[in-house]
Amino acid sequence: MNVKELLSEIQKTKPLAKADIELIEKAYNFSQLAHKGQRRKSGEPYFNHSYEAALKIAGWRLDSKTIAAALLHDIAEDTKSTIEDIKKEFGEEISFLVNGVTKLGRLKYREQNGIHKKQTLKTKKEEFGAMRAENLRKMILALSQDIRVVLIKLADRLHNMKTLSALPPQKQKRIALETSEIYAPLAYRLGMANLSGELEDLAFPYLHPTEYNWLIENVKEKYDERQKYLEKVKTVIEKTLKENKIEPVKIDFRAKYYSSLYKKLLRYDMNLEQIYDLVALRIILKTVEDCYMTLGIIHQFWPPLPGRIKDYIALPKPNGYRSLHTTVFCIDNRPTEFQIRTMEMHDEAENGIAAHWAYTQSKGAKQYLEQKPIFAEKKELAWIRQLKDWQKEFSGSEEFLQSLKIDFFKDRIFAVTPKGEVIDLPAGSTPVDFAYTIHTQIGDNCVGAKINNKIVPLDHQLQSGDLVEILTQKSKKPSDSWLKFVKTETAKKKIKSALKDSLTIIKSQPKTAELKIIVEDRLGMLKDISSTFSQNRVNIQTINVIRQAGYPIVKIRCALNDKNKIEKIIFKLKKIKGVKEINYKLN
Ligand code: MN
Repeated sequence: MNVKELLSEIQKTKPLAKADIELIEKAYNFSQLAHKGQRRKSGEPYFNHSYEAALKIAGWRLDSKTIAAALLHDIAEDTKSTIEDIKKEFGEEISFLVNGVTKLGRLKYREQNGIHKKQTLKTKKEEFGAMRAENLRKMILALSQDIRVVLIKLADRLHNMKTLSALPPQKQKRIALETSEIYAPLAYRLGMANLSGELEDLAFPYLHPTEYNWLIENVKEKYDERQKYLEKVKTVIEKTLKENKIEPVKIDFRAKYYSSLYKKLLRYDMNLEQIYDLVALRIILKTVEDCYMTLGIIHQFWPPLPGRIKDYIALPKPNGYRSLHTTVFCIDNRPTEFQIRTMEMHDEAENGIAAHWAYTQSKGAKQYLEQKPIFAEKKELAWIRQLKDWQKEFSGSEEFLQSLKIDFFKDRIFAVTPKGEVIDLPAGSTPVDFAYTIHTQIGDNCVGAKINNKIVPLDHQLQSGDLVEILTQKSKKPSDSWLKFVKTETAKKKIKSALKDSLTIIKSQPKTAELKIIVEDRLGMLKDISSTFSQNRVNIQTINVIRQAGYPIVKIRCALNDKNKIEKIIFKLKKIKGVKEINYKLN
């Protein structure tokens, strides 16, 4: 492990300019010095981790700035050097990338317990979990702002997973779960099926140890036996292609990932005999024409299984995957899967968006263009379509993606609850919007908010990545002033409905009492009555005397809604000389 090795890895696929070599050497030395003396839990020098991440980034053929950023990715978090130091030494772009990776490092995904206790139905819970995971994936992209940040994070995670055994069991489980729920699907979304499978396989033994052991015991032999068989098939294919004047770039085997084999086995009653693509034969060719020709030749030799011919070249998978697949009754009548594709398709199947990025970067580089000029544009569109579709699912925004800069979530922000749940909100949302998104009660009772542990006003605008804690008080009611700053329709609707409710409560609560006192007509009667009220500190609002047949009636309206107090006054009023009868009502 040294800088020469890293440089030669990069130069395998493209020549490096002198400036690039200098940059990578400088980042290498800077990082090694900064991490000096630090060790990983496994005992190896910390710098090894940064180096491995950079090597992976180089393998994806990303630019030298991304490689430098990968070398530096843990510096701000784990050493004395800061983002500012990196900016001073390496400039804006590299410090931006490192800062992005540092921010992502603070996100954590945990299994949810407690928060939505009411949703005990399994399906609801799963649905909620899936949404939560998707929100976190979106948040990772939104926070990254640049696809290269995500790629460094994925390279970082890959190496962390490879060294996971050194960590305590509790941490292993959490990180494996996060990898399987967040990072592997994210890699898959970005078309990096190979990386996605690798991450899943690394997480698998930690998440499902029993199932993993069963697989190892039952499959290992089958894999070996299968490979031997395919060696025979390979020889036949090579010879036949040669006779037909087709020269493949390479023919190799693809062993199915354990994790995806396990998922498939669950659908096939754990019957290994039913899995034809345990190990597939992969033929990489120079042109698309060669691909279809090869498919035809294979079918001439061996009859295909009906329904197993897949033309993903004409109809790519949603994540952009292109290839021809067929399963045939091969030598000794054994069902065998073939995957046929060009080098470019293969590269993209392995490296997805990274391959695309590398491709757009080296547009000037002739050798790449000469390889597959026709499909370049089509492919680019597929990527854009895919990312756009993903975006549409959630925000409905019609904006066209000009580049791989991640601006398709710029209308959304993603904020985190203290329990790690990611809340997806429109840009400009406030703690009140956040509170109502979690629960109506939390919104209604909201009195304040802390963002990243600092108290902020309720109209404060949230940023992606903010950790938001809502402070509540049981008796608190929403204020109509909130309507001026909330962004979500949910919050508006709920505030209005809460305000309406409290109005009806006020209305329905009796505020005044009306008393009818039947009295004898005598001098000083009104004075005696009114002084009883004032002695009991009750304000009389109106006082009228009406005369019906018989005795006069004194009608008094007063500010009083307490039954006990009224009874007390009535008791006293009845003692007044000449008071005959008293009725009252509250309104
Ligand atoms: Mn790291």
